[in-house]
Amino acid sequence: MSIVTMTKCAYCGEPRGDIAIRTDLKDVYPDTMQPIIVDFVPCEKCKKAWAEGVAIIGARAYDKNLHGKIPKSMRLTSSNAPDGLVPDGGYLVLDPQSNILKHFQELGVKNTSKGARIFVDPEILFEISRNATRVNSGDSD
Ligand SMILES: [Zn+2]
Repeated sequence: MSIVTMTKCAYCGEPRGDIAIRTDLKDVYPDTMQPIIVDFVPCEKCKKAWAEGVAIIGARAYDKNLHGKIPKSMRLTSSNAPDGLVPDGGYLVLDPQSNILKHFQELGVKNTSKGARIFVDPEILFEISRNATRVNSGDSD
């Protein structure tokens, strides 16, 4: 059985506007289908938001026990993140002048200019979000 379903953004959870055909499902009725994450390419809304400042994006190391069997096509690739990470916890976008970014520089993060993307543990993202004046944010569900 194959099903056509909507895809959603892995970062903000919003429908991404494209579709996926799933052939891996049994006994699922089309009207119960929820939008699914098929890859880690951000939606246009997230891309636009990230471009406005420095995106701090929640991510965890890929864990087979936690995340189950994820096809290689769904891993973050070098085009948008270090391999072996999966998005988790949403994101926020900081002003490039933010003091928080000075801490990242001290930790060895080289690119903290506008348009940069920094992937952090979701707990760190949460701590930053409590203290930061953000430009933009997205929450994944
Ligand atoms: Zn998005």
